[in-house]
Amino acid sequence: MNGFIHSTESFGTVDGPGVRFVVFLQGCPMRCQYCHNPDTWKMHSGSVRSAQSLIREYERNQAFYTKGGITVTGGEALMQLDFLLELFTLAKQKGIHTCLDTSGITYRPVESDYNRKLDELMAVTDLVMLDIKHIDPQAHKELTGHDNGGILAFARYLAQKNVPVWIRHVVVPGITDDPGALTRLGQFIGSLSNVKALDVLPYHIMGTTKYRELDIPYPLEGVPPATREQAMDAKKIILTAFWQVRRGKQ
Ligand code: SF4
Repeated sequence: MNGFIHSTESFGTVDGPGVRFVVFLQGCPMRCQYCHNPDTWKMHSGSVRSAQSLIREYERNQAFYTKGGITVTGGEALMQLDFLLELFTLAKQKGIHTCLDTSGITYRPVESDYNRKLDELMAVTDLVMLDIKHIDPQAHKELTGHDNGGILAFARYLAQKNVPVWIRHVVVPGITDDPGALTRLGQFIGSLSNVKALDVLPYHIMGTTKYRELDIPYPLEGVPPATREQAMDAKKIILTAFWQVRRGKQ
């Protein structure tokens, strides 16, 4: 089976444990205002490649990946579920550590063929990196174009399946740094038994040139990048709430 691939990166160091082969899939239904990859949004574009060819590309540098593996990201990787399932199944047959980086936006908590395939995918997925962009449904909708009901349900689904998860949250000044919302985010992820790490990242403006090239107005024009200190402060608030819930459960 072929997939629509935006690009690959041979030596990724921020997309899961160790040094990783990172595959960026094409296509995303979200429109996050701070997205720095608007060139991945379009479905059915990019290069058309087989899962086998990506595994071969991995194998060319596999000596570097002994503590790493493959990460598939996007765009939204779950938009190409069949392809992803084939790629991760092949990877697991070869003993490769697999990580899915996703927004969880495609998930709906219903009986469906899609969810049955998702169950199969989770059986060959070692780690999920899940972005929670805002805990408040309305604020999430303003930020991304979608509410977060399916995403939070996906987080609970991963907990039920006991799939290890790293949570990511981007701090955008004035938009995703409200202490009350950060506390609720911490309480939510504290209720999940499978969260292994929390990454809180400062918003940056490195993607703005891509918007100019694509002739798309940049939605956060004038919003300053977040500092590392702002990200650290946000992380402290999230973790305080997280541990309150965790300790209450012990
Ligand atoms: S989910 Fe990721 S790729 Fe899609 S719009 Fe948001 S930041 Fe961009």
